[in-house]
Amino acid sequence: MKQSKLFVKSRKEVQSEETSINAQLLLKAGFVDKLMAGVYTYLPLGLRVLDKIKNIVREEMNKAGGQEILMPALTPKEIWVQTNRWENFDALFKLESNNHEYALGATHEEVVTPLLQKFTFSYKDLPQAVYQIQTKFRNEARSKSGLLRGREFSMKDMYSFHTDEEDLNRYYAEMEKVYEKVWERLGIGHITVKTYASGGAFSKYSHEYQTFAPVGEDLVYYCPKCKVAINKEIIEDLEHACPECHGKDLEEKTSIEVGNIFKLMTKFSGACNFNYTAADGSVKPVIMGCYGIGPSRLMGTLAEIYNDANGLIWPKAVAPFQIHLLSLGDRDESVQNEIMSAAQKLYEQLTAAGWEVLWDDRVQASNGEKFKDSDLFGIPLRLVLGKQSLQAQSVEVKLRNQENGESLPISEDLEKKLKEIYNNYAV
Ligand code: ATP
Ligand code: MG
Repeated sequence: MKQSKLFVKSRKEVQSEETSINAQLLLKAGFVDKLMAGVYTYLPLGLRVLDKIKNIVREEMNKAGGQEILMPALTPKEIWVQTNRWENFDALFKLESNNHEYALGATHEEVVTPLLQKFTFSYKDLPQAVYQIQTKFRNEARSKSGLLRGREFSMKDMYSFHTDEEDLNRYYAEMEKVYEKVWERLGIGHITVKTYASGGAFSKYSHEYQTFAPVGEDLVYYCPKCKVAINKEIIEDLEHACPECHGKDLEEKTSIEVGNIFKLMTKFSGACNFNYTAADGSVKPVIMGCYGIGPSRLMGTLAEIYNDANGLIWPKAVAPFQIHLLSLGDRDESVQNEIMSAAQKLYEQLTAAGWEVLWDDRVQASNGEKFKDSDLFGIPLRLVLGKQSLQAQSVEVKLRNQENGESLPISEDLEKKLKEIYNNYAV
């Protein structure tokens, strides 16, 4: 993509009420735009990041046998009354039109349970797992931390349906592995831990996945021995001990909840009268589990964790592009033209070889602005073509998370060398 074609420009300043690092950086870099508190537009570069996060989640859910669907965001009041959540779900956005009442989807048990009920009759129809990656709406009281707590935000919600608790437990354990894989692929595996949280009325615990970060709203107690944490909200019940090793050497940490898994058991199948016929002919309630991940919150989390004084530093897996190619300006018009045509050639070669390249081909912008934007955008590999490199038939190559770069000759070998350097990018 050519940067001159982007309608979005980076900004020098952002609204002062945005104090969180992720909001500051994402707004400055022009990855998102804020419409109102907790509600954002994803701009071209930001949308590429969000889509990459969603696709990693999608791939892992598919591997775990999840079937992707897309449920409506507009839902009738009646289904929420049936499960007793019209009054009890605090953050539900409710609307009324022509004497009908509706809720904007804040979660989808009310839709997915009757949906599966239409197709499930006997034990032969189970187990099943369905998921969606969809926009959720919640009237959150505090929406002041950028993408971390949206009023309109992206959620992956998976729901599983089983004949009995044993089968749910099997799938639940499988999902723990799948979730770990997702965090690893996103570059936060080393700072994201399974966390014991309250399980509501239906099981002793649920599990959250908490990513350690100073900005986090959650407080957890981490057991370094078992590599699990306990949410503050249940630590009293556990007498400040790890539920796995019973040790009391716990470290207090602030963290961001990036996902959670929950045994719903019969909470919703019971409310919806969702039963199946077992092999022995008896009629039994379907047992359910649910598994959430927040892609937009993850994008905010990555921005919070991976940055420096000059801007974002995206992990490879989610960076909007792999290469940021800068063609520098020059006062001498013929030199300038040479730089542009060399850059054009390189851009085409790299793109044809499968690299995702953003080419800063702007002629109006100063060289200083180009370097500044490049640091701000946080694309892993930066290639610079200027007068000096052109004379030496070379290109300046630098990784975003390293101080110094190197000069590489523009030759047949260049692409291979770039691959090596790119593979060394730590995140
Ligand atoms: P929290 O305690 O942070 O409000 P939650 O327990 O309400 O989260 P769930 O309803 O289980 O979260 O949603 C599943 C996932 O969706 C969460 O783990 C989180 O990653 C994401 N999520 C929840 N609320 C928001 C929000 N307001 N903005 C962005 N992501 C969210
Ligand atoms: Mg919540």
